[in-house]
Amino acid sequence: MRDLVVFSSIGFLVFGTLAAYAEPTAVIVAWDGGKPSVVQRLIEQGRLPTLQALMGQGSYTFQAQTILPSKTLPSFTSMLTGVSPQRHGVLWNDYDPGRGWVPVPTVFEVLKRAQPSARTAMVFSKKKLRHLVRPGTLDAVEEVDEDALQVAEVAVRLIQSLRPHLLFVHLRDPDRAGHLHGWGDDARGQPPSAQFVEALQRCDRALGVIVEALRQNDLWEATLLIVTADHGGRGYHHGSSDPQDMRIPWIAAGGLAAPAGVLTRTIHTMDTAATALAALGQRPPLDWDGQPVWEALRIELGDESWVKGTMGPGLLGKVPNPRLEPRRRECPR
Ligand SMILES: [Zn+2]
Repeated sequence: MRDLVVFSSIGFLVFGTLAAYAEPTAVIVAWDGGKPSVVQRLIEQGRLPTLQALMGQGSYTFQAQTILPSKTLPSFTSMLTGVSPQRHGVLWNDYDPGRGWVPVPTVFEVLKRAQPSARTAMVFSKKKLRHLVRPGTLDAVEEVDEDALQVAEVAVRLIQSLRPHLLFVHLRDPDRAGHLHGWGDDARGQPPSAQFVEALQRCDRALGVIVEALRQNDLWEATLLIVTADHGGRGYHHGSSDPQDMRIPWIAAGGLAAPAGVLTRTIHTMDTAATALAALGQRPPLDWDGQPVWEALRIELGDESWVKGTMGPGLLGKVPNPRLEPRRRECPR
């Protein structure tokens, strides 16, 4: 009943009976360095069966855009805070406790403020993502120094035990393989390394494990699952404005995703956070750069006034900016 109240208070209507009564769940699964041209080719060859099945019932594009610099921590910060690097200022790409947490609210934080009972969780496999674990914003944080299948096992245990409303899962495998063995270079006709292909296939199996857990726990029909990446790559590197670095896949699936097929508008990585919030029935802050990808959602907006900017304050500027504080703060753990 609480969920119906949450939905009706901001004018959402969820299609489908089951989705209307289950608690909405948003899951973001990020394939680190998941270059979309290779992902697309493997799907055409039937070698990423989980993703292929999700695309068949959801909405997708292989032309979504990450931010500049097309590096891991700046990109994930934009993905999970809804704002561009010009706004969040996270241009470093290493774990550096002295820098504290990212200086803008994350999607977890925005959700918690709007809905304090919401449960949030992150599972990641790179230490630098600790910078996104702002205090008091996550009910569970798991750092797993292992491959995609091990990360997925931890995510499954969290789904079973916590039943998070918003879950982020980070799989590092493609990035590791790309730096060590090569992403390939489309412009030069160089194919990706076998190791990179294997890493994507491992991510696909891990994704299948997560989807199965959502189904087994009766969450799938009320879930928006977004599968995306922080950047692509070419040769052994990424970080530039080259389209092979900048393009990312963006696939929406689950019971809350619309079966819209190919998405034609340009999707930016900041839109991921806004779309996850919209699926959970919450309005993204008006001062976010990201917007919900409504075409990918199986929900109808009953009251569009907040989208037009006539309602609701922005959240930026209301949190202390660690960079401006005299005392240095340390990341937890
Ligand atoms: Zn990365």
